This record gives sequence, structure tokens and C-alpha cells, in this order.
Amino acid sequence: MVNLNQIGMVSRQNTLNETSYNDKTIAAMKKFRGSHAWKGTQTQRQTKLKTLNKELAKANNIKIPKLKFQMLDGTDSGHSSYNQYEHGITLRGRISVVTYLHEFAHAMGHYNEEIARHWSIGLFKQIFPISFSKLVPINDNRMYIRREHR
Ligand SMILES: [Zn+2]
Repeated sequence: MVNLNQIGMVSRQNTLNETSYNDKTIAAMKKFRGSHAWKGTQTQRQTKLKTLNKELAKANNIKIPKLKFQMLDGTDSGHSSYNQYEHGITLRGRISVVTYLHEFAHAMGHYNEEIARHWSIGLFKQIFPISFSKLVPINDNRMYIRREHR
């Protein structure tokens, strides 16, 4: 079930508002959106995300994080992670754009979970408002939201 109140609370508490994303970040996200981010085979989707990963790294002046995919069995993406020592993002379970952005926020140096959530959810909301409205909050201390299973 979609709990709009909780989604609204996330955005009201968002300390990193829309203006905190630089133009190149927005441009990279719009290009990713234009590539029909969710369409294609697993391999095609991974390639699109790798392109986004490179462009977001450039846009935010960080070294390109390694991007790996493991155990994409269609389950929850909550076991995805960022490893600071490898500067590597590993997406697990399924390819989730919100989860990817969350781990990318860690790669940018936002190690605080709240800040990483706000950065990723705020950016996702700005670029994919319709998909954002279909997200539902969860409370497993990792992510506030996931896509609703229909
Ligand atoms: Zn995190």
C-alpha cells in the first residue's frame, strides 16, 4: 500500500533540496531517463547504469566508483552496498535506481545514512516523479522506500 504521508515526510525533511544538485548531475539523470532506464535486458540495463555512474562521477568530481552486480535474483535490493576501501558499489537482488543512487551518495562521501537517503530520494523524485509516487516506505533501517509490488 502506498503511504503518501510518509513519502511526504521524507521530502519535507529533505535538507538537501532540489537546488543542491548541480546542472551536470541533472543532465546526466535526464539522459539516463531518456535512455528508458527500466527497459531492456539485464545486460542492457546494467550498461545504462554504468554510463550513468560514469557521468554522475564526472558531474560530482569524484573518481568513478566500480559498479558490480551480484545475485540479481529479482528479490529486494536492500543488500546492495558501497565499499569505501574499494570505492565500489555492488547492487544485489535486483537493479534499483533508487538503491543505486543511495550507494552513489555514499561513494560521494555522504556516509551518513540520512544524508545519503535524502540525496538519492530527492534526486530520484525530481527526475522520475511518477515512479517516485509509486514508491512505498519500508522500515528496515536501510531504505525508506521501495517500488510497490503489484
Ligand atoms: Zn546506506
